[in-house]
Amino acid sequence: MRDFPDRIVVASHNAGKVREIRELLEPLGCEIVSAVELDLPEPEETGETFEENARIKALAAARATGIAALSDDSGLCVDALGGKPGIHSARWAGLDKDFALAMRNVEEALAAAGAATPDRRRARFVAVLCLAWPDGHTQMFRGEVEGVMVWPPCGEQGFGYDPVFLPDGHARTFGEMSAREKHGWRRGDDKPALSHRARAFKALVEAWFGDA
Ligand code: IMP
Repeated sequence: MRDFPDRIVVASHNAGKVREIRELLEPLGCEIVSAVELDLPEPEETGETFEENARIKALAAARATGIAALSDDSGLCVDALGGKPGIHSARWAGLDKDFALAMRNVEEALAAAGAATPDRRRARFVAVLCLAWPDGHTQMFRGEVEGVMVWPPCGEQGFGYDPVFLPDGHARTFGEMSAREKHGWRRGDDKPALSHRARAFKALVEAWFGDA
């Protein structure tokens, strides 16, 4: 039986994601080191699923540093686009990581598919966390949140596709929510998790500590 690591490398170079992972990891009481601070290279994401890519990233960081690593592979899956952009969500923003462009690309694809009404604009965010140890052991936790694609983009908080995603049961997009609202939950809170990432973290906390 392993202990929960007391030091974890966050295996991501995406600043928005790293900020959210830190917020969700902090209540677990471990020391957090980032891949950017350690100048780790970004491995090529050659997998065909969120799980495969999460595993590639976490194992690369754990093996390079000799300490446990946590990765997050995530994306936006739009029903009318057959699940795209999915695992290629970052690529739709191009080399310049231009998410205004990525959101426009999704909107144009929805228009081309004739998806005008909310029921034709269903989507979900998916996050898969992979916790990996230098000896190759891995654990995965998945979270998803359902919602509707809106246009034009609303709000300037969060990152990536947040301004065009309206989670079910809410009147504001993720782009209009504070980080705390988007997570909905942190370890120790007696509330349901909202974002895909917070839901995956809740599964991790339940599995390790049994107290989410
Ligand atoms: P990854 O680094 O390949 O996992 O890229 C994930 C991409 O999915 C990010 O660059 C964002 O475009 C998108 N994404 C994932 N999670 C979120 C989120 O919480 N809000 C907005 N966009 C997200």
